Amino acid sequence: MKAAVVYGAEDIRIEDYPDPVAGPGEVVVATKVAGICGKDVKTMLGQGLTEDLPTVLGHDISGEISQVGEGVQGFSVGDPVAVYPMAVCEQCHYCLQKRYNLCENALGLGHGLDGAFAEYVRVPKEIINVGGLVKLDDEISFEDAVMAEPLSCTFAAARSNNMKEGQTVLIIGGGSMGLMHVKTAKWTGCEVIVADIVDIRLAMAGQMGADHQVNSATDNLQDEVMRITEGRGADVVIISIDIPDVIEDCLSLVAMGGVCNIFGAAPDIEVKVDPGWLHQQEITLTGTYASTPADFKKCLQLINEEAIIVSDMISHRFTLDSFDEAVESAKSLEMVRGVITFGEMVSVSF
Ligand SMILES: [Zn+2]
Ligand SMILES: [Zn+2]
Repeated sequence: MKAAVVYGAEDIRIEDYPDPVAGPGEVVVATKVAGICGKDVKTMLGQGLTEDLPTVLGHDISGEISQVGEGVQGFSVGDPVAVYPMAVCEQCHYCLQKRYNLCENALGLGHGLDGAFAEYVRVPKEIINVGGLVKLDDEISFEDAVMAEPLSCTFAAARSNNMKEGQTVLIIGGGSMGLMHVKTAKWTGCEVIVADIVDIRLAMAGQMGADHQVNSATDNLQDEVMRITEGRGADVVIISIDIPDVIEDCLSLVAMGGVCNIFGAAPDIEVKVDPGWLHQQEITLTGTYASTPADFKKCLQLINEEAIIVSDMISHRFTLDSFDEAVESAKSLEMVRGVITFGEMVSVSF
C-alpha cells in the first residue's frame, strides 16, 4: 500500500509500505479521510518523534472496513467506520475506572501503532474492545466523521470543566482546537469569549459562533472580560498556550467558583498560583488530555444529528501525493483543519 512514512524530523517519504493484516480480534480499515492534527505536525517536525522509526502518523481516521479478523463480532467488510485512536489495556487502575485516555499502557494510532496517513490501517483489539471502532450512519460523511476525534477532546474538557448553560467561557487561542472549543461551548449553552492575537482567527471564531472576540495584542483582555462579565470574570477559562506570564494573567480572569482548564502545554514550565485564591474563591484548576471512547462516540452522534456542525472547520484538502504541501500548509495560520482524502473522493462540500 501507499503511505506517508516518517523516517525522521521533516523526513517524510511517500512510498510502498507493507499491507496490514487483520489478526484475530482485529480489523483493517481502508482509509477514506485522515485528519491532520496539530500533534501530527509537531511530530513531523521532530517534537516527540518515536525512536522506533520508520513510522506512519495520523490518528484521526474514517474509512471502510476492508478485512475482518477471526472472532470480530458486529462488523463486516464494507462497513463505514470512524476509529478512536487509543489502544488501551483494560487492566490498569485508570482503565478500570474507564478513564481510558489515562491508560498506563496505551498505544495509539500514529503513536506506537501505524497511523492513518496510509491507504490501510490495522485496528487492534485493544481499540475495538473498548468500543473504539464505531460504525457510521449513512447520513454522516467521512469528512465530518474524521472531526469526531478532535471534537471529542474539547467535549472531554467541557465535561471535566462541568460547563453549563448560562456560564461564560473564555477560550485563549483561536486555532483549530480553540474553534472546536467554541463549538462545544456553544452547544453547551455558554456565552463564549475568544482571545487571540491574529485577527483572521478571531473573525473565524465569530463565524463559528463566538459571542465576543478580543485581540489581546491590541485590546486589554482583562478589561474586556470584566466588562463582558460585569466584573465577575469567566466561569471557565480554557488555556492551551505555554507562556507562563500569559497563563498567570489568565488565572485572574476566572470568576469565583470557576474553573481554569489547561488544555495543552509543554512540560516543565512554571506558573505562580495563590493557594489562598484557590481556597477563598473556590477555584478549580484542572487539565484534560485526549478523550474517552464514550466522548468519541457522543461526538460522532452530535455531528450526525447536526447538533454540532464541523464541516466548516475543514479548510484544506490533500492527497497522499500532495503530502508535502499538507505539511507546509499546516505550518501556516490560514489552515484551520486539513484532511488527506483517499480513493474516489467522498462528497465534498466547499
Ligand atoms: Zn487529534
Ligand atoms: Zn490501561
